[in-house]
Amino acid sequence: MSNAIVTIDNLHKSYGEREVLKGIDLAVNQGEVVCIIGPSGSGKSTLLRCVNQLETTTSGRITVLGEDITDPDLDIDALRARVGMVFQQFNLFNHMTVLENCTMAQRKVLRRSKGEATKIALKNLELVGLGDRGNATPAQLSGGQQQRVAIARALSMNPDIMLFDEPTSALDPELVGDVLKVMRSLAQQGMTMMVVTHEMAFARDVADRVIFMDQGVVVEEGNAAQVITAPQHERTQEFLKRVL
Ligand code: ADP
Ligand code: MG
Repeated sequence: MSNAIVTIDNLHKSYGEREVLKGIDLAVNQGEVVCIIGPSGSGKSTLLRCVNQLETTTSGRITVLGEDITDPDLDIDALRARVGMVFQQFNLFNHMTVLENCTMAQRKVLRRSKGEATKIALKNLELVGLGDRGNATPAQLSGGQQQRVAIARALSMNPDIMLFDEPTSALDPELVGDVLKVMRSLAQQGMTMMVVTHEMAFARDVADRVIFMDQGVVVEEGNAAQVITAPQHERTQEFLKRVL
């Protein structure tokens, strides 16, 4: 029995005629941080979005904790509670307070009481350094703070894995560090994570494994030192030359 949280077997995904994932195989084990790097358009977001079924798969199999999530009878809400996702554009509800953002899904999906949901939300807001901003609205916060709220919101569902899709790409440079710091501390606490990022220093320091994708396939994977410092494939070398 493996301790895989997510397994992906021969995943294909097409949009109409266009195949953007061409047979992806990947397993993410408990406590592992997997960083996915690669050029724009290579299918990184689509891959993450398939893992929480924001996109349906064309063929292949994905399991989360052993359950086949490509099954049409899947309970999507239950899946999305187990698989937290943080997007480039924070996707907070702007008409709600920070605290309401962090309690709504807990109450609706997990059926927690208002008191319990609030307690859990505050604990996670504390964790991301925003324990005192529960009554603020997203518009009153910086982009970096909004992104940390999005992280706290996802954590409040007690997910088994967190997916991050370029969580710092929309931020002003001076706000990137605080978000990466929260992600580093999550990794240190043993959270299982799949992170699409262009932050090579983060990938090098935090990732247990780095995956380089190009044109819908995994070109190269290995530990961070191997892939980022000593890439074997020409396509990986060219990509890293451009971003490092
Ligand atoms: P990445 O995140 O690596 O930049 P994406 O997964 O966003 O790549 O996109 C991979 C390819 O799929 C791109 O060519 C993109 O234009 C295409 N694509 C992504 N989403 C859609 C969609 N909803 N409909 C059609 N094509 C899409
Ligand atoms: Mg993307």
